[in-house]
Amino acid sequence: MEKRQFKAESKRLLEMMINSIYTQKEIFLRELISNASDAIDKMYYKALTDDSISFNQNDYYIKLSADKENRTLTITDTGIGMTKEELETNLGTIAKSGSLAFKKENESKDGHDIIGQFGVGFYSAFMVADVVTVTSKALGSEEAYKWESDGAEGYTIEQATKDSFGTEIVIKIKENTEDESYDEYLEDYRLKTIIKKYSDFIRYPIKMDVTQR
Ligand code: ADP
Ligand code: MG
Repeated sequence: MEKRQFKAESKRLLEMMINSIYTQKEIFLRELISNASDAIDKMYYKALTDDSISFNQNDYYIKLSADKENRTLTITDTGIGMTKEELETNLGTIAKSGSLAFKKENESKDGHDIIGQFGVGFYSAFMVADVVTVTSKALGSEEAYKWESDGAEGYTIEQATKDSFGTEIVIKIKENTEDESYDEYLEDYRLKTIIKKYSDFIRYPIKMDVTQR
């Protein structure tokens, strides 16, 4: 297993996100679903240009499963997946998409509006997660890799097994505190409401599977 540190900028953004942009924690789901959808889009465009890949719309979907007993929320996609290198560059560096630069410019403004409109990305998962585990197998790759982080200092990466291409993200939902409840992110109706609010336009099916225990 390899252990890596987040870059300094990433650490700062992570702290800012977890500590100050508190009110709209629910948007983490929008971000993860939009990433899943992007990954399926990439698969689709690959299939358009590569005759050896067939794209059957029915094979492409996003799946959500909540497990109350284990406090995990799992988001699975059948998209293009990530190689080991992609896990490192894409998830090891926060704000690859320029979120940090954007935040800097707008630091004096009200953070709430900004976060509502702007894609804050993968790391928003740490607003509700103690640990995030990403297992991915890239299209054309034989191997799968598991990236894991508690969001604090860094992440680990190791080889894993996964049958199909795509990505599985397991979020270990935080325990409730005196001021904050996180249980809602394991509730069927609540997840549906969030999806309806932010992800209604996603053109791949979002399947749901909630284990009630
Ligand atoms: P953005 O989506 O704006 O690029 P994110 O922080 O949301 O920023 O994601 C960072 C990058 O991680 C994405 O650009 C993509 O390359 C990769 N990524 C995240 N989630 C997935 C996924 N489910 N499948 C494949 N790649 C992903
Ligand atoms: Mg994104």
